[in-house]
Amino acid sequence: MTPEITVVGSANLDLVVEVEYVPQVGETVLGGDLARIPGGKGANQAVAAARLGRRVAMVGRLGADSAGNMLRAALEAHDIDTTSLLTTRDTPNGVAMIAVAADGDNSIVVSPGANGRVTAADVETAGALVRDASVVLLQLEIPLPAVEAAARAASGRVILNPAPAVELPASLLEHVNVLVPNQTELAILSGHDGPVDASIATELARRLPMEEVVVTLGAEGAMVVTPDDAVHVPAPQVTPVDTTGAGDAFCAALADGLVRSLSLVDATAWAVQVGAVTTLRQGAQPSLPTPTEVRQLLA
Ligand code: ADP
Repeated sequence: MTPEITVVGSANLDLVVEVEYVPQVGETVLGGDLARIPGGKGANQAVAAARLGRRVAMVGRLGADSAGNMLRAALEAHDIDTTSLLTTRDTPNGVAMIAVAADGDNSIVVSPGANGRVTAADVETAGALVRDASVVLLQLEIPLPAVEAAARAASGRVILNPAPAVELPASLLEHVNVLVPNQTELAILSGHDGPVDASIATELARRLPMEEVVVTLGAEGAMVVTPDDAVHVPAPQVTPVDTTGAGDAFCAALADGLVRSLSLVDATAWAVQVGAVTTLRQGAQPSLPTPTEVRQLLA
């Protein structure tokens, strides 16, 4: 069956240890018990979209190891189509080693592993999954040629969450419909140091060959920016427990809204709610809400 949303992106195993403080160079600290949590922006966004009720496919690469098996099972538990999520022989799965301190400070080392082996040819082999999806949802945790191949192949809307931010070639941007950076990513993309505002996003929107930019603003919500307009969409007021995964939930909810033919501003209004609710629970994938939970938790 044709997916409504196809994610072409990364899947990591997050290895998380709570520590009293993040160690300095050369230092060893003892932490709590190891938690093994499915993660990676691609997989998080795929699971978030599935939790919101969409039919989702994921294209990418897993390692031929226990982490790869665990991640495939986590995606399939959400009925995500994994037929084009390839297992890569002799390559470990992507892993993020995360030390989190009690005050929220963290230190993260990512080994991309199999995510780094995703090619344009893999995307072409996925065929209709990418070509015919209503929305193709992309991030930058896999090699750029694969991201570009997906944007080029899509006949539906292309949403690019430029994370982690790198300079984006025009050959990619010309196939993107909606760019969704956070403030840090916007600053990097637009070459600004320091705080960014609507005028910088407008300037970026004018420079890009695409329709729209949606900038996420954390507790402030988001801003929908077109070359001649900027609409601020405030976030509901919540007391966050853990903001991990909020950006991923936001992107998935935006895609969900566009699949349901909402306007970009209305889809953004939905996405800020889903993003806010995701901050109310611990972890990335475990905190992703269903539409009923969004309504209940914000009531
Ligand atoms: P990222 O997590 O990628 O850095 P943001 O911090 O901009 O992205 O957060 C993404 C979205 O998550 C926001 O647009 C908002 O909807 C929601 N969100 C994040 N932090 C908060 C918060 N403190 N209060 C309410 N909503 C939040």
